[in-house]
Amino acid sequence: MEEFRRNLTITEKTLVEIIASSVEIYKKEAFGILLGEKHKKHYMAYDAISFLSAKRSYGFVNVPTIRANRVNYTLSYLTKFRVIGDFHSHPEGPDKLSGLDKSDIKHSGLGLSILIIVTKAKKKTHNWKIEDNNIVGFIGNKYHIKIMAFEYNKKNNKLFHLKIVCPSLKKLNKLQPIKKQR
Ligand SMILES: [Zn+2]
Repeated sequence: MEEFRRNLTITEKTLVEIIASSVEIYKKEAFGILLGEKHKKHYMAYDAISFLSAKRSYGFVNVPTIRANRVNYTLSYLTKFRVIGDFHSHPEGPDKLSGLDKSDIKHSGLGLSILIIVTKAKKKTHNWKIEDNNIVGFIGNKYHIKIMAFEYNKKNNKLFHLKIVCPSLKKLNKLQPIKKQR
């Protein structure tokens, strides 16, 4: 039986932040949290905060959760947004959640998790697009980016692959890259 699932809308701001932080730290894993709103049928990710220099610690203490709680507390005094999930990158793959990722999602209490896969590329072969519910595209001719979203449903203890919606992909495809300054 097909289960009900939300989709996820990613704003341009969020997209830029999660890709930039994943490429910046490439070959290491980037991670951070997603800010936005959770509705009945969809998530809206308005912004992302990356945790620079932070190491994800596995096992006893879940650092993202502690930070997320602190950020949530702060945000409640600043905006109507809340921490709706987290994101992290897999440099050179794999394009799936690891066992630890899965247990993190289950225990973080956030439910939503975005995975960014950054792989070295030789040549851009297509524009930014949605493929199999994921965002795929290139940064110049250098990196291939794949963005996947997952939701953990506590009620039935299941992990879903979410459909991503991103209205700003068209805009990205129209951008003219800046020529290198001499
Ligand atoms: Zn992972």
